[in-house]
Amino acid sequence: MSLDKINSIIKRRGFIWKSCEQYGGLSGFYDYGHLGTLMKRKFEDIWRNFFLGLNPNFFEISPSLIMKEEVFKASGHLDHFTDPIVKCSKCDFVERADQILEKQLKEKFEGMSKEEMTELIKKHEIKCPKCGGALTDVSELELMFPVDVGAYDKIRAYLRPETAQGSYLNFSQEFNALRKKLPLGLAVIGKAFRNEISPRQGVYRTREFTQAELQIFFDPEKVEEHSNWDDIKDYKLRLLPASSRDKLTELSCEETIEKFDLPKFYVYYMAQIQRFYLEVLNYPREKIRFFELNQEERAFYNKLHWDFEVRLEALEGFGELCGIHYRTDYDLKAHEKLSGEKQEVFFEEKKFIPHVVELAFGIDRNVYALLELFYTEREDKSILALPLKVAPFDCAVLPLVKKEGLPEKANEIYQELRKQFTCFYDNTGSIGRRYARQDEIGTPLCITIDFDTLKDNTVTVRNRDSTEQVRVKINELKVKIEEFLNEA
Ligand SMILES: [Zn+2]
Repeated sequence: MSLDKINSIIKRRGFIWKSCEQYGGLSGFYDYGHLGTLMKRKFEDIWRNFFLGLNPNFFEISPSLIMKEEVFKASGHLDHFTDPIVKCSKCDFVERADQILEKQLKEKFEGMSKEEMTELIKKHEIKCPKCGGALTDVSELELMFPVDVGAYDKIRAYLRPETAQGSYLNFSQEFNALRKKLPLGLAVIGKAFRNEISPRQGVYRTREFTQAELQIFFDPEKVEEHSNWDDIKDYKLRLLPASSRDKLTELSCEETIEKFDLPKFYVYYMAQIQRFYLEVLNYPREKIRFFELNQEERAFYNKLHWDFEVRLEALEGFGELCGIHYRTDYDLKAHEKLSGEKQEVFFEEKKFIPHVVELAFGIDRNVYALLELFYTEREDKSILALPLKVAPFDCAVLPLVKKEGLPEKANEIYQELRKQFTCFYDNTGSIGRRYARQDEIGTPLCITIDFDTLKDNTVTVRNRDSTEQVRVKINELKVKIEEFLNEA
């Protein structure tokens, strides 16, 4: 089964593994090894390039990870950001109440109140799945990690459960610093923390994770327009609307706004998200879709919520990679109310509080999805046929043998290439084994230094996907590699 092979590569070769493993691990926490770190960084870079490139008034900021209690009082996290849990009165097993119900009754129960769930558990006489003991009433578990700041007069703060709040707190200042223009985009790429009751599905659901979130602040009176609408109006979206979940529909953006009564400003970003996955990352079209959440499923502050999803073997179904949320003026208004600080702007002769469309990506699950989707095999050998721009190493430099001046020449080439590319040097084992090792971690190009190199200053460049080998002059190598990587 290929999932086992993928997981083995992820762990054995240095992508991702459990944190604190020699002390038994800590559930929901993962470390990135050298390959995972390179790949994650590359994913973040192409995300930046693509989404910040959509508008010259989109920028990245870096707010702090620990924030005062008031922030989450205002945002509603303190009161609403909880999971319903039940405990076994016999063996102390703890589980999310909705998941216990889901498993027993084969229905979805997200968004149901704790009283309703307690009722259901009693009605259907649901017992502890581990020991058959009685379950307690459903209670609520706070999902944020509290932090006490300072030594004596401790100040209650929290690790941020989403990066978005940092953008809201900085909006006013950035609006002024950026010459008072809308739309204004503030992106944050960074860690967020949620004390999930029982994290599972590997890196797909963790307690510490990296988000890339873009908050786009705009004039609510202009929600029915977008200045670049014409670019995408005929672009076809793959949609699974809440009204008909058994049937995927493909509609152009123009048709989408009419059929589902969605605003142009929102659909424009749906199109850009799908373009990012199909055109930049080469995702297979048949494995992706937008999934609409209905009113019970989405957070109360979201007026609209579609998730971009991909079909993954590890999840035995579709999993979310990105959410696109129309959060309206909910957060800015809430912060204005609690802090007393005006969030209103004066723009184009009007005073108003901007609305927000949020694009929220989970980076870790995106990294995982790439590893699973682009895994393939050739003659029983594993290959990560990753999109070139996210492969951990751009190229590997391999001297054919460990003697007669080849390592020296190879090292010289390696030192030159690593100024511009992520590059791996390997002189151990047969050349065939070394190619296979690079294929397994997705390196697009292998550069081999052989005896001809010493005579005519050329090297062999081998392509991961075609296994084709061509001779290239050393002085043209950088340009050739660059051309090749940019072609994709
Ligand atoms: Zn039990």
